[in-house]
Amino acid sequence: MKTLDDSQTTPPRRIGLFGGSFDPVHLGHLLVARAALEEMRLDQVSFILAAQSPFKPLQAPLPAEERMRLLRLALAGQSTFVVDDQEILRGGVSYTIETVRTYADRFPGAQLFYLIGADHLRFLPQWREAEELSRRIEFIVIPRPGEALIPLPAPFQGRHLRGFPLSVSSSEIRARIRAGRELDWLMPAAVAEAIRNNRLYL
Ligand code: ATP
Repeated sequence: MKTLDDSQTTPPRRIGLFGGSFDPVHLGHLLVARAALEEMRLDQVSFILAAQSPFKPLQAPLPAEERMRLLRLALAGQSTFVVDDQEILRGGVSYTIETVRTYADRFPGAQLFYLIGADHLRFLPQWREAEELSRRIEFIVIPRPGEALIPLPAPFQGRHLRGFPLSVSSSEIRARIRAGRELDWLMPAAVAEAIRNNRLYL
C-alpha cells in the first residue's frame, strides 16, 4: 500500500479520486475502484476519506482514525490503490474542490477523474464551486443497483462505469453488526476481524 506522499519513479498520469465516508469500507467500494482502474485505464485510485460529508450533516461517523485503519487494512499490499488522509487532516466539512486542487498542484498535467455514486448525482449542481470543478475533473459515475442511470447534469462531464454492481452499503453493514449478523465476504477478512475484535459499530 502506498500513501499519497510516497515518492514514485513515474508520476501517475490518470488519477481516479474516490471520496467517501468508508464507514466501514466494504467490497462494493473495492470493486468500484478495481472497475474504474480497468475501464478508465487509470494509473492510480486514491481513496479519500471524508472528514464530514456536506450531505450527511446529521450522521456521526465512526472516528476518522478507526475508519482510516479499516481502509488501510482493506488496501494492504496494493500498490495502485492509495489512501489519502488530507480531508481528515484539514478537518471540518470536506469539499471536493479543495481536494481536487491539491491533486492538480501535486500532479501538474495529470488527468483527474472523480468517482461518484449514481445516488449522489442529483446533488452535483450543489457542490461547492461547481463550475471550476467541472473544468478540472471528469466524472466516473458508479452504477448502484436500484438507481436509475440519469445523465450527468450540465456543466459536468464524464462517463458511466459498467461495474461490478453490488448491492451492499455501509449503512446496511452497520445495521447487520447491530443485529449480530455475519460480516464475512462483505469486506476483506482483515476488516471484518478488526470490526469484531474492537467491537466497532455496536
Ligand atoms: P452509506 O450506506 O453510509 O451511505 P455507502 O456504502 O454508500 O455509505 P460511502 O462511503 O458513502 O458508502 O460511499 C462512497 C462512494 O461509494 C459513494 O459514491 C457511493 O455511492 C459508492 N458506493 C458505496 N457502496 C457502493 C456499492 N455497493 N456499489 C457501488 N458504489 C458504491
